[in-house]
Amino acid sequence: MQHNFERLSEHILPLSNSDNFHVAKNEWKLVGVEIQEDWDNCPCGQAIKELCYIQNQLNGNKTHVGNVCVNQFIGIATGNLFAGLKRIASDNSANANEDLILHAYQLGYIYENEYHFLMQTRRKRKLSDKQMTWKQKINLRIVNQTVVRKNT
Ligand SMILES: [Zn+2]
Repeated sequence: MQHNFERLSEHILPLSNSDNFHVAKNEWKLVGVEIQEDWDNCPCGQAIKELCYIQNQLNGNKTHVGNVCVNQFIGIATGNLFAGLKRIASDNSANANEDLILHAYQLGYIYENEYHFLMQTRRKRKLSDKQMTWKQKINLRIVNQTVVRKNT
């Protein structure tokens, strides 16, 4: 199934102040991301596992869309955010990529000193024991807030 712009627009416009999509899309800001093991649906009709929570800055309405629609139609770039998230979810000693670190900080998942630490060490293969422990602790916190595993 294709990402259906009409269906997405029919969902977004009633939640927006403007009734013109090209104006309305600018009212929205990314406020959270999530990877689910179970399938969810984007308002466009596409089955998704990578969810982007967005909030309207003018009226406070909230909804979620898939990672493709958030980039393609809402115009919010997430880059390699989800690839980075999957990587640290499967290995908590892995380095988060730049997009993930930036968004994790902007979305409030990590503190400023953690942001600087992750940025400074994002290409490092060798860390001291203390640094590795810190990195794992930060990665675990990001994953706990963004990855929803099946309850079964
Ligand atoms: Zn979609």
